Amino acid sequence: MDVISQVLETIRTYSPDANLQPVMSAYLLAAKAHAGQTRKSGEAYLSHPLSVARILADLRMDVETIATGLLHDALEDNPITREELEAEMGSTITQLVDGVTKIGKLRFRSKEELHAENFRKMMLAMSKDLRVILVKLSDRLHNMRTLEHHRLDKQESIARETMDVYVPIANRLGIVRLKDELEDLCFLYLHPEPYAEVKRFLDRTQADRDAYIRRAAKGLEAKLAEEGIKGEVSGRAKNPYSIYRKMAAQNLAVEDVPDILAFRVIVENMGHCYGALGIMHGSFPPVPARIKDYIARPKANGYQSLHTTVIGPEQRRIEVQIRSKEMHRVAEEGIASHWQYKEGKLALSPEEVARISRIRELFDIAREAEDATEFMETVKTEFYSDEVFVFTPAGDVKRLKRGATALDFAYAIHSDVGQHCTGAKVNGKMVPLRCELRSADRVEILTSANQQPNRDWLKIAKTGRAISKIRRHLRQQEREHGIRLGRDMLEAELKRYGSSLQKAIAGGRMKEVLKRRTYRDAETLYVNTATGSASLKGNVRRLLPEGVYDEHHRRAQPGTFTSIISRFRTRAESPVLITGEDAVLVNFANCCCPLPGEQVVGFITRGRGITVHQSDCDQLAKMDANRRISVEWDAESGARHAGRIRVHCQDRPGLLANISRVCELAQVNISRAEARPTGDGSSVCTLEVAVRDVGELGRLIKNIEKIKGVDLVQRLAG
Ligand code: MN
Repeated sequence: MDVISQVLETIRTYSPDANLQPVMSAYLLAAKAHAGQTRKSGEAYLSHPLSVARILADLRMDVETIATGLLHDALEDNPITREELEAEMGSTITQLVDGVTKIGKLRFRSKEELHAENFRKMMLAMSKDLRVILVKLSDRLHNMRTLEHHRLDKQESIARETMDVYVPIANRLGIVRLKDELEDLCFLYLHPEPYAEVKRFLDRTQADRDAYIRRAAKGLEAKLAEEGIKGEVSGRAKNPYSIYRKMAAQNLAVEDVPDILAFRVIVENMGHCYGALGIMHGSFPPVPARIKDYIARPKANGYQSLHTTVIGPEQRRIEVQIRSKEMHRVAEEGIASHWQYKEGKLALSPEEVARISRIRELFDIAREAEDATEFMETVKTEFYSDEVFVFTPAGDVKRLKRGATALDFAYAIHSDVGQHCTGAKVNGKMVPLRCELRSADRVEILTSANQQPNRDWLKIAKTGRAISKIRRHLRQQEREHGIRLGRDMLEAELKRYGSSLQKAIAGGRMKEVLKRRTYRDAETLYVNTATGSASLKGNVRRLLPEGVYDEHHRRAQPGTFTSIISRFRTRAESPVLITGEDAVLVNFANCCCPLPGEQVVGFITRGRGITVHQSDCDQLAKMDANRRISVEWDAESGARHAGRIRVHCQDRPGLLANISRVCELAQVNISRAEARPTGDGSSVCTLEVAVRDVGELGRLIKNIEKIKGVDLVQRLAG
């Protein structure tokens, strides 16, 4: 029987009433499109789309998807146009083919940063119609099956791309059959030697294994039947790649990998699953801590089963998976199992997609993420993960990836809870937000209206959801601060020339500057000024009436003396106010560590905002005077700043504790402390403390000096 007849036959078995016309038409059109073309193997090109259609029919896909499989390469380098395709096949199939063609153009072979935008495009294409990715996966599977005809380097790069991109997608969609085969083929091309080793071992032991499986399966079935449960028991060796993974993870020889044998017990319904588990454990001793209930807690891709490992017949250790028929279908075919029996139409609503997999979240993140690299980071944390289950105080279960923290949990409850969380209680005990959660933890989140996300949270958050929400907030905050700061900077400079932003706007000059720099609005100009990516001087010059800037500078041609003075100009007419909360855009120079109460000058960096120095800082004096800006502390702000001190003291126990006690009494937090003995009986201790101003630091230094055993306390700059 030829392949197309097999495809049609297969469709009839699972969908007797299907209208097969689209498949026939697609076949004829594909034959016309690929006439005369051959594959690298020398076969007629048509054999490829036919094989793809076959894979899709084996997944029991709908007629439109199978037609798309036949035509998936027809728009690529072919005499068939989109119009012809649409006239012949209608708009749905044309859109599907178009989607597959677009994904086909995406390459993921370079470094991850370059993958990212492609990956996002793929997610967006998938989110429009998931069938597109099923065709693409089938296409990739057939290409992997015939990869031997490619050059060696090509083989490796295609296998790498498949492993990194398509295997995780197949896994996330729960199409295990496809995933396993793709994985094994990648294994073959990426690690040929270990592959051969595993394969040799499996071949050598196959006869013995098969005989054991037959004996054991019979025994297990009989045990179930005694208790009135009808179960089909089958056994197999695990796939080569998962064996290899265990070898690699535990550094084992292939002979020593445990649980190579997996038995599957398929029963009628969910109740029988638990019954069967009881019978198993009654007959064979279970290996403790190896029982997993994926029925009560399905995997993210919808997979449900009971897993246990027992010392089975003849004392051989075996893994047993117990599931109902329905669960089995989902386990094998994942998302594809939901299309069947509803012929002709897409029988998978967005709600169903959400229910059986969290792929939807990825789609949302793809739309929300600002840029591709950011998206990729989110995807990496979401896609390649294990999970823990934790409880809310009300007893609801939240599923989080392994390594998730209390902060992630807060965001999992609601982004508002995340945004304002200050701490957490795990199993009734106070823990910091960075506390890693474990399965069955009961977690309560504490919030405060004054709390908001900060940059450190990005180090604490581990889930894609929390990371993308925090980023989003920081971006917004950065923009708000940037607008204020940039506006103040421009206003302060313009004032020096007797002008103002209002005048620049009224005079139409603002509009010209925006047009010239292709900024959408003035706010964008402000933000770019604050970050230093737009030149302050250049824009000030253009915001002033024609000639004012140059005239001013001609008149004020400074002599050497005045230029030295102006380099250390500390008071401007209207300085930009600096608060500690601007932290995103304002940094405090490490060379001089300025504190409120000290004279300061801002230096506009390229692209990283303003760095604030003490006005007599030696480093500042060496830097471009044109990039300086007058700044002043915002007296209203109660923000704390980092001050550094060095304590020379005798090396004796309890001294550091005494120092902390003094800080505590002064209500000053120590953010970092480091003590190091000098070897001559004394010790040097470096502290970073959070103080309101230079006066507070001075008082603290005096109080530390009073401690017995302290010889000298210095303020540190640099
Ligand atoms: Mn193809």
